[in-house]
Amino acid sequence: MKYESVIGLEVHAQLLTDSKLFCTCSTKFGSGPNTQVCPVCLGLPGVLPVLNRRSVEYAVKMALAVNCRVNEKSVFARKNYFYPDLPKGYQISQYTEPLAEHGYLDIDTNGGKRIGITRIHMEEDAGKLIHGEGPEDAGSSFVDLNWAGVPLIEIVSEPDMRSADEAQAYLKSLRDILVYLEICSGNMEEGSFRCDANVSIRPVGAEKLGTKAELKNMNSFKFVKEAIEYEIERQIDVVESGGKVVQETRLFDSARGITASMRSKEEAHDYRYFPDPDLLPLVVSAGLIEEQRRTLPELPEAKRERFIKDYSIPAYDAGVLTASKDLANYYEEVVKATNEPKVSSNWVMGELLRLLKEDGRDVKDCAVTPASIAGLIEMIKNGEISGKMAKEVFEEMYKTGKAPREIVKSKGMAQISNEDELSRIIDGVIAGNPDNFARYKAGRVQLFGFFVGETMKATKGQANPQVINKLLKDKLEK
Ligand code: ADP
Ligand code: MG
Ligand code: ZN
Repeated sequence: MKYESVIGLEVHAQLLTDSKLFCTCSTKFGSGPNTQVCPVCLGLPGVLPVLNRRSVEYAVKMALAVNCRVNEKSVFARKNYFYPDLPKGYQISQYTEPLAEHGYLDIDTNGGKRIGITRIHMEEDAGKLIHGEGPEDAGSSFVDLNWAGVPLIEIVSEPDMRSADEAQAYLKSLRDILVYLEICSGNMEEGSFRCDANVSIRPVGAEKLGTKAELKNMNSFKFVKEAIEYEIERQIDVVESGGKVVQETRLFDSARGITASMRSKEEAHDYRYFPDPDLLPLVVSAGLIEEQRRTLPELPEAKRERFIKDYSIPAYDAGVLTASKDLANYYEEVVKATNEPKVSSNWVMGELLRLLKEDGRDVKDCAVTPASIAGLIEMIKNGEISGKMAKEVFEEMYKTGKAPREIVKSKGMAQISNEDELSRIIDGVIAGNPDNFARYKAGRVQLFGFFVGETMKATKGQANPQVINKLLKDKLEK
């Protein structure tokens, strides 16, 4: 282990505003190409951008959630470059004076670590290029400008991460916060949440940072990890064989699991940043910041800690249950009704999540209500059904949305716990097996299991095992 890896992430998050950053076009995802465009986002001459207030509120919300200082004044700048998905020939971004700075986020790998957040700035998204692959359009490219002008925030970290795992944990945590705040869908496959990873290596103990490569094109958490791991190994190989890492942008090829050079890294001066003369400096009032601070929801980390403390559930459970705000709310509803935090966690985390995962659904779209899970737990507690029956009932609840009691009734599943009834059945079993009864009496106590089994058979598996055990002990020992 002669080398240490150093990673800093630049994360782009599309904000869930109804309209674009500087025009009133819709940001709805999945509409027909170029149906959500206007002269402003098409970059036609003579138009003027008007800033979307909601996007500023969202950006401030995120800045506060990750402990940034929000600058009273920030400045929109033009970042000039030519690309077919950028009709204006420049992107409106922020450069020397960003919206927010000096934040941090705590991640919980290896006992916890604080990752610095350098800055959060606002900018507009570019359009989308679609490269033809069919027999007729191979070699052609198409541009969809529905995305041009959608509001983004870019969250730039300090080079504080030291492994692909830390980078992944940081990224997941950022995404969870954005989704909790309800300001970004967090969807990596759709590109609403994207990440560029800057990776370098240096000899262990060295102060000076090594030359970094910037990795792009990673549209899942798994790929981010794979790309970084590959890149660290690649750079070590380069240095070990006497070469030098060059500053460049590399693309991750997920099919081959490697990164390949795309272009040498551009420098800030290539973009000729300058303040956009069409936009006044953005002044964020103390009132707006206070309003956003006041309405910040409980964030994932705080919720996780509260679950551990208030419900005395393991950290693992708390982590799973707070992975989404909807799931956490759902769980809390169940607990409110049952007053049994751990048992509730077992059902929500176990059976419910298992079934949801199987058909790729979200807890929001689930037919089982918290009240009906609570009802099921109650029935087990009362001995009305066994744990095994409950699982069967639960699957039915999941499929049909019916209440547990209704299912138990219609399937004739109720557990027999009535002592008089079971006592009669056991008497019958003993009378029907005089030989085994005699052997038991003569000392073959292993035959106890035989009598349990026969009673279960006689009740089609519906007898309450605890009650059988107790009754059988009485009767056999008598
Ligand atoms: P650039 O101007 O090339 O975009 P920045 O200084 O803006 O570089 O940094 C971009 C990102 O790269 C930040 O997240 C930062 O933490 C990270 N970074 C900077 N230098 C290094 C390095 N030597 N190794 C790894 N990451 C780095
Ligand atoms: Mg940069
Ligand atoms: Zn528009």
